[in-house]
Amino acid sequence: MQKRHLQIWVDEEEGPPQVDPADLPTPDEVLYQAPNSDTTRKACGNCIMFGTKDRSCTIHASEVDIDPLQICGYYVFGPPMETRMDHPGMDPVTPDLSGLMETTIGASCDICVHYSFDETCHAVQQDGRYSKVDPLGCCTRWYPVEEDNPGNPY
Ligand code: SF4
Ligand code: SF4
Repeated sequence: MQKRHLQIWVDEEEGPPQVDPADLPTPDEVLYQAPNSDTTRKACGNCIMFGTKDRSCTIHASEVDIDPLQICGYYVFGPPMETRMDHPGMDPVTPDLSGLMETTIGASCDICVHYSFDETCHAVQQDGRYSKVDPLGCCTRWYPVEEDNPGNPY
């Protein structure tokens, strides 16, 4: 499972590394997901594996406290449960493996450092070109635009 955190460039003078789009993964290879049917951003709070009452996740260990605004690479859109569903004999995934991470408003392409406002993504390709993505789609390469990480130069 690919982690959500992506190594990004830090040298502002040099800018992003020049990458041939053909060398990038395709959307399928990074588990790109289409927008939620209700147009919400993706987060644990609208994942079917979230337990709303005990802030839990069915595929993580019961002691892992899950914030509704976190997200991981196993996200599946749908109504959450009240409490975590116990599966005897299941080996839970660890936050490190799932890529569990914080968000402030959920995750989506339009607030990802790799998103360009012509609705292409500079981290995935289709037919050798930067792939079209939906502003409210998302994938495992998501990395949020933040104050100290102000977004892409595309
Ligand atoms: S940790 Fe992952 S699988 Fe669990 S509720 Fe959050 S997004 Fe869903
Ligand atoms: S913009 Fe970000 S979240 Fe969307 S497909 Fe590209 S890398 Fe993934």
